[in-house]
Amino acid sequence: MSDKFLCEEPGCDEQAIECYLNDDADTVEHFCPIHCYKNGYCYGCGNFFCGMEDFDFNNPSHLCFNCRTEVNSDIEDEELSTEMSEWDLEL
Ligand SMILES: [Zn+2]
Ligand SMILES: [Zn+2]
Repeated sequence: MSDKFLCEEPGCDEQAIECYLNDDADTVEHFCPIHCYKNGYCYGCGNFFCGMEDFDFNNPSHLCFNCRTEVNSDIEDEELSTEMSEWDLEL
């Protein structure tokens, strides 16, 4: 199977995703979610974000801004629908 990769970090044999250092398709590494972040990659999209303040700091989800926005918008949609149903009850 060519679509299953193992983490390239020494001593780690977790299942990995493809990580892209830049747009050059030859520059591909493979890391598990933990080592994605340690090496500066977002494990949501596999892009390299090391050096960006928003990614390196205050980032408990270990996702890049784009992937985090997708996750947050899902949560906000759920909260919004809950609020709206409560509002309906008060009316
Ligand atoms: Zn790993
Ligand atoms: Zn991402």
